[in-house]
Parts: sequence; C-alpha cells; structure tokens
Amino acid sequence: MSSAPEHVDVLIIGAGLSGIDAAYHLQRAFPSRTYAILEMREAIGGTWDLFRYPGIRSDSDMFTLGYRHRPWLGDKAIADGDSILRYVRDTAADNGIDKHIRYRHKVIRAEWSSAGNRWTVTSEHDGDSVVITAGFLFSCSGYYRYDQGYTPEFAGTERFSGPIVHPQHWPEHLDVEGKRVVIVGSGATAVTLGPALVEQGAQVTMLQRSPSYIISMPARDAFADRVRRFLPAKAAYALARAKNVGFSTVMYQVSQRYPKRMRAWIHGLQERWLPEGYDIDTHFNPRYDPWDQRLCLVPNGDLFRAIRHGKLEMATDRIETFTETGLRLESGADLDADVVITATGLNLVVFGGIDLVVDGRELKLPELMAYKAMMLSDVPNFAFVIGYTNASWTLKADLVCEYVVRLLAHMDAHGYAKATPVRDPSVGTAPFLDFEPGYVLRVIDSLPKQGDRAPWKLHMNYLRDLPKMRYGRITDPAMRFERATHGAGVRE
Ligand SMILES: Cc1cc2nc3c(=O)[nH]c(=O)nc-3n(C[C@H](O)[C@H](O)[C@H](O)COP(=O)(O)OP(=O)(O)OC[C@H]3O[C@@H](n4cnc5c(N)ncnc54)[C@H](O)[C@@H]3O)c2cc1C
Repeated sequence: MSSAPEHVDVLIIGAGLSGIDAAYHLQRAFPSRTYAILEMREAIGGTWDLFRYPGIRSDSDMFTLGYRHRPWLGDKAIADGDSILRYVRDTAADNGIDKHIRYRHKVIRAEWSSAGNRWTVTSEHDGDSVVITAGFLFSCSGYYRYDQGYTPEFAGTERFSGPIVHPQHWPEHLDVEGKRVVIVGSGATAVTLGPALVEQGAQVTMLQRSPSYIISMPARDAFADRVRRFLPAKAAYALARAKNVGFSTVMYQVSQRYPKRMRAWIHGLQERWLPEGYDIDTHFNPRYDPWDQRLCLVPNGDLFRAIRHGKLEMATDRIETFTETGLRLESGADLDADVVITATGLNLVVFGGIDLVVDGRELKLPELMAYKAMMLSDVPNFAFVIGYTNASWTLKADLVCEYVVRLLAHMDAHGYAKATPVRDPSVGTAPFLDFEPGYVLRVIDSLPKQGDRAPWKLHMNYLRDLPKMRYGRITDPAMRFERATHGAGVRE
C-alpha cells in the first residue's frame, strides 16, 4: 500500500543565494512552519559554486549583493567567488537552513490542485521519482541552464588543435602559462577572465563582435572602510548599502535620461585608463546606450592595466572559421591561439525549467503574466525570485522574500488557503524583460509577459519597489484569496 507523500508548508526550489534567503525569511517569520529546499546539485551556492573559472568574482558590490540581514564583512566590495560562496554557506549553516536541503533533487513538475489547495511536486533523485506536496511553492532556481552554457555554432571547430573551453565548464587543470589565449566574448565573464589569465602568464586577446561598456571601480569601498571604523558592523553595512543603492540608482537613471552625456563621460574615463591614442571608438564604444545592457565593472582597472602592459589585446571582429592554429576573422585577419575560451553566455531558463500544471491544465509560460514580477497570473500559491538586471540580484531577492512572508501572514490571519493573481484582459502585454543582451533576446518569446501597468508591470528600480514590496498593501483587486472550504473567492 503506498503511503501519502510527505507534506511541507512551503517548498523552495534551489539552494543558491535566493533559496537560502527565502528559507531565512520564512523560518524567522514562521518558526513552526515546515519547509524544505529541493536542490538538484550536490552543493549550496548555485552560481557561486558552479562557476570555477580563474578570477570568478562579483560584478556588483557586496554591500548590495549581500543579504540585508547579514552584513558583508569581507574587505573587498568586489569579492571573489570563493568568499561569496562561503558567505552563502555560512548563512545557511548559522541558521540551520542546511538541514532543510535535499540535495540531488531535480524538480521536473509541479501540479496544483484546488481540491486540496496544494502543490504536488515531482523531482528526480538518483534515478528515482520523489513526490512531495506543499501549500506554497517558491522558485529560487536562478535564470539559466546549469548543464550547458551557450556557444554559437562556429565553423571549423573540429580543425582547431587546442582546447575550446566554455567558462561554465572550466577544466580543473587548464594551464595557460606562456600560451596564447583568445577569449571570445565581451560580457562580465570575458572581462573577468582576461586579466585573470594574464595574471597566470597568458598572452590574451579578447575577441568581441561588438563592444560593451566597461568601467573601472575600486575593489575596496573607501566609504565602507571609513564608516566601519567608527560604527558597529550592522550599522556600517546598512549605510554602505544605502550609499551604493543610491549611487547605482542615480547612475542608471542618468544613463537612461542622458545617454549621450553618459557615453561621453565613460569615454573620457577610458581615455585616462587606456594608452594614449588607443582606438576607443572601435573597442569600447558600444552600439547601444549605457545600461541598455548590463555595464561591466573591472576592479581597480585591471583590464585596462593589462592592455597598458601589452599583455591583453582587444579585437573587434567576427569569426569566419576556426583553423588548425587559431581563428580566421571576417576581416581576413588571423588570430593565433593555443586555447580558445568561448565566453559566449548562458542559456536562459526560468523556474528551473519545470512543467507547471494548474488543476490539470499544462501551463504555457508565454500565456502567463507576471504579477509584481514575483508571481504568475492564474497560478495559485506560487512565487519566484528573478533579480534586477540593473542592480544587485539580492536587492530584489530580499524584497520578494519579505513580500512572500507578508502574503503568507495575511493568508494566515484571514484563514485563506489560496492566493491567485487574476489576469485582467484589459491590461496590455510587454516582453518580460526590457533588456537586450543576446541570452535574453534568444528566448524572450518563451517567457511569461509583463503588463503595461501596475501590478503587472516590472520596474527595474529598487527604490520604487521597496516601499511597495516592504510596506504596500497585500490586498489588491488583482489578487484573489480563497478559503479552504472552496467558498467563493474574495477580492479584498
Ligand atoms: C558568473 C556570474 C556572475 C554573476 N555575478 C553577479 C553579480 O556580481 N551581481 C549580481 O547581482 N548578480 C550576478 N550574477 C547573477 C547571479 O546568478 C545572481 O547574483 C545570484 O547568484 C542568483 O542566485 P539564485 O539563488 O537566484 O540563482 P542561482 O545561483 O542560479 O541558484 C539557483 C539554484 O537552483 C538550483 N536549481 C535550478 N533549477 C532547479 C530544479 N529544477 N530543481 C532543483 N534545483 C534547481 C540550482 O542548482 C542552483 O543551486 C552572476 C551570474 C553569473 C553566472
């Protein structure tokens, strides 16, 4: 006789930065509620455990990439991957969250039943199928495929005699000392890897189809260092965080409103950082405006220094084909290489790629609309974390976790068993992300939509989201609450 599956009040998918954050908020607000975290890998940390390429580091400051509830005590604002991983693991261990994680559980399907007001969640575990039921499902599964990074089809790869490496799958013992390394790509990973491989003794060429905005930022935050001297850790952290939120918001808003001036300002800085007469227009002057894609930060100008020292070259061109000894470019030039690194990006996937079913109906994501950028239309008791694209991910993760806690407390207080954002057909649709990098554009049609007005519109603006998510009303004409007795739904 088969027994009923295990039941938890809240089921979290993913034990990365966001999943640990979600667990922290839930157990603090509801000590007696049961929860579990299903994690498909063998480890805590998600991104910060997966990526192992040399130099892996944050590209936003740790005072905002850190949790609001746990001061970042590291000395660097732009921190290395190991320190970030330790921070996430320590948060889990210090709060007993690690005991709630079920490793090697890959969630593949979640089915909501309004008859029982619960999710039935199926995961694969060591070749077996494991079923758990839950009252609320919280997806903290990141935004990209873990098993495969993105590499475009390049001609002639089979002819190339050296290794071709994707940064998502870095070989443990890749020796680049004295080698000619070509890094294909111009995003955060490429600009991190370039100087790191120079440090390991490589002669590096960064080959990009088109340039990105790259600016230098001090690895240490002088303001944070100063306030730490006379304030307790928590207060100093809060102050440094507020300063950095303010600074990044101003940078973003100014970029959006005055793109020409921002472009000119960045150009002026790069003239100071690069050798005299350097061809900035070819290699560092993007076609898009600042912050239409994420700006790349380099700590203490390491990339520009490597260029000044003649250890790193930029090439702005397209690959025609790989050859036995490197790459032939569309301009006709040949680039010799012993190793080629394809820092060509991620394969975006949302909600861990799981199949979502509501009352027997398989959901198609493009038919759904995101509610407050954290729930989905007509999907009950489901929330997700997808962080900001123009500021640190955790700022949004913290707000979503706080909102979910308030939503659950509201449901408790009124005896509701079900909370469903209900779509209003008069609300117009827009793409889920108003952001243009290739990894977003490649899949934008397979994502849910956002609406053209609140509460369906996504604002990439922490200061605007903060009062609404932290203090705003939970009740809303677009949210339907229902009691367990299957009475008529209530829209408060
Ligand atoms: C190289 C790199 C550098 C970055 N640097 C920054 C930065 O400096 N600042 C910033 O704001 N953002 C940065 N990001 C974005 C970054 O991913 C987030 O900051 C943050 O780590 C996301 O945390 P997360 O927990 O939401 O997702 P992840 O770190 O991706 O963790 C998701 C977890 O969910 C698990 N999971 C996924 N699907 C399933 C499933 N179906 N079943 C079970 N488990 C599942 C995964 O195994 C993983 O452990 C970076 C991203 C990359 C790739």
